[in-house]
Amino acid sequence: MSDDGGRVAVVTGASSGIGAATAARLAAEGFRVVVGARRLDRLRAVAEPIGATALPLDVTDPASVEAFCAEVPDCALLVNNAGGALGRDPIARADDADWLAMYDSNVLGVLRMTRALLPALVAGGDGHVVTIGSIAAHEPYPGGGGYNAAKFAVRAVMGVLRQELLGQPVRVTEIDPGMVETEFSLVRFGGDEAQADAVYQGMTPLTADDVADCVAWAATRPSRVNIDQIVVLARDQAGARTVHRRS
Ligand code: NAP
Repeated sequence: MSDDGGRVAVVTGASSGIGAATAARLAAEGFRVVVGARRLDRLRAVAEPIGATALPLDVTDPASVEAFCAEVPDCALLVNNAGGALGRDPIARADDADWLAMYDSNVLGVLRMTRALLPALVAGGDGHVVTIGSIAAHEPYPGGGGYNAAKFAVRAVMGVLRQELLGQPVRVTEIDPGMVETEFSLVRFGGDEAQADAVYQGMTPLTADDVADCVAWAATRPSRVNIDQIVVLARDQAGARTVHRRS
């Protein structure tokens, strides 16, 4: 990674959606951006036009996290974004493998990345951890079991971290979006486009750029200001399951 000025921001899960938009926005704000994800071709296509460094990263694999973080000796901002949902099964038919995978990427992924980069975040004297949670961390909904459990856990982890780091030069922010049109629903429904499209039918969801805007705003407040939490929903959404649809 070349040292050409600017503070270093790491964005996990930046090969699409919110992570890709956040990487672009942070680059525009003057950060030197390092992006990670599993699909390297997609990641490079995001990184190249914004001058970011693309490195392979699977947040569920401790060796991958270690190799990634070894390439990032300096880090001022960590955006824990990698994750997502798998399936909409009710608890009566819950699939252990889906639950384990959601817990591994959303919760343990945040743990692994944060733990690995904390020494650099502290040493820099003005660090910041921003984690993308979800409205699912606030409101359980039928069929949301595994994702709700994972995002509630992420929220707990961020609350603990905020208290454990009190007195150290590291800010902790949780950003909890509602419906955002990305590849999220396509992944959740195993590539079923009709099911994914139906999620946003008749309503106007947030865009990935809207969430990137929240990340950038929190990250560019003065160092004395800690934005603890942002819950951001589309105007057409008033709760996890309360959505206004035009026919
Ligand atoms: P997305 O378009 O599917 O993007 C998910 C990103 O996470 C991809 O870049 C994916 O890259 C990466 N990822 C997944 N597993 C990973 C792993 N094990 N290691 C590294 N990267 C991994 O969905 P999105 O909406 O942008 O989701 C981003 C975050 O926002 C997630 O945490 C999600 O839970 C949260 N969120 C989304 C919504 C929504 O409605 N879209 C709402 C609230 C919260 P690779 O597959 O290339 O690794």
